[in-house]
Amino acid sequence: MKENAADRIQELQYFGEFGGVNPSIADSSTYTFLSAKTMFDSFEGNAEGCYLYSRHSSPSGLYLGEALAAMEGTESAHVTASGMGAISATLLQLCRAGDHVVSSRTIYGGTYALLKNFMERFHIRTSFVPITQLKAVEAAITPDTKAIFCESVSNPLLEIADIPSLARVAHQHGIPLVVDNTFSPLTIAPARLGADVVVHSLTKFINGSSDCVAGAICGTSDFCTTLKDVNHGAAMLLGSTLDSHRAASILKNLRTLHIRMKKHSENAGFLARKFERDGLKVGYPGLLSHPGHPIMRKQMEASYGFGGILTVDVGSAEAANALMEQWQAANLGYLAVSLGFYKTLFSAPGTSTASEIPAAEQQEMGLSNGLIRISVGLDQDIERTYLKMRRCMEELDILSREESLY
Ligand SMILES: *Cc1c(COP(=O)(O)O)cnc(C)c1O
Repeated sequence: MKENAADRIQELQYFGEFGGVNPSIADSSTYTFLSAKTMFDSFEGNAEGCYLYSRHSSPSGLYLGEALAAMEGTESAHVTASGMGAISATLLQLCRAGDHVVSSRTIYGGTYALLKNFMERFHIRTSFVPITQLKAVEAAITPDTKAIFCESVSNPLLEIADIPSLARVAHQHGIPLVVDNTFSPLTIAPARLGADVVVHSLTKFINGSSDCVAGAICGTSDFCTTLKDVNHGAAMLLGSTLDSHRAASILKNLRTLHIRMKKHSENAGFLARKFERDGLKVGYPGLLSHPGHPIMRKQMEASYGFGGILTVDVGSAEAANALMEQWQAANLGYLAVSLGFYKTLFSAPGTSTASEIPAAEQQEMGLSNGLIRISVGLDQDIERTYLKMRRCMEELDILSREESLY
């Protein structure tokens, strides 16, 4: 029997204090100790099963972390107040002044700004490389390099990282591979493919209801313990702790992730194939025309499909904006950043989420202003959605009218 991440999540049982089918939420920032010695031991990090203070850990945070570790196949996981909280804590734990990071150049705009602008202030430099060119990745590594960073499916261009090969390069140089798996939970399991640390923005697919921000760091028990260390831990000292109530609500949503991912993929795949047939410039890892298709195929869990995100390039920022406004007016989704919601969300990353990346660099990486990123929702009848989306494109002369369709 093949071990499956969704099965591992399902195996986890947590009961509430009064036999509730959901675990109780510890509505407390601090916890009592029966003896002063146990409190002292907790500070030293060796009082197993004891809670000290909720910035350090809380029962709900630990349950959610355990479920995410089960999903990613890591020993442990630490949950954070946002995806950026997870990424910043991880990179600042791994690096000190004078160190260096090799990062994919196609990454989330916030991560790009963190590496390029913010960490630079602390003399931690980053080389941005095309992640699909292994030679360029390897050539950028210096004796000061402390991590390779990439996204398994990149934002917004949907480049697919060859995780086993990147892990091999990283390990040959004695450094960890850190992978942001926000776009492909359950679909890709980076740690099983060799990554050392897997980070997530839980804000997106994993929570799935666009009602909060949260993040997670999945890795070895040692790394997660270090992150929480009261004297040296980046998660503990930078304070990006997830609130107990949110941890509890995200854990409940995680229980339906396997069903949602399949539907997101089914719907996105349908639109991608239709739009491509219509002659549009479409980016979707499930299409044979996508350069990352063979690698995606090799490293994905096939039953979840190729993911819920696709891109369409309609040529100009004006056309993209007009189309998105029209789609929103037709109630086909929302003109909004973020992704992984049950309704379709679309935005033009060149002028929004990736706007931290300078124009010249955007051009070099193939990010045009006419590119629309579509996070496809859980629409029951995607064909109906497609026909309505198509009609908007015809009205704006992005597609020519084909009477035969109606
Ligand atoms: C949204 C996102 C982040 C940042 O997560 P927040 O929860 O908004 O802090 C990081 N990486 C990727 C790929 C994202 O999509």
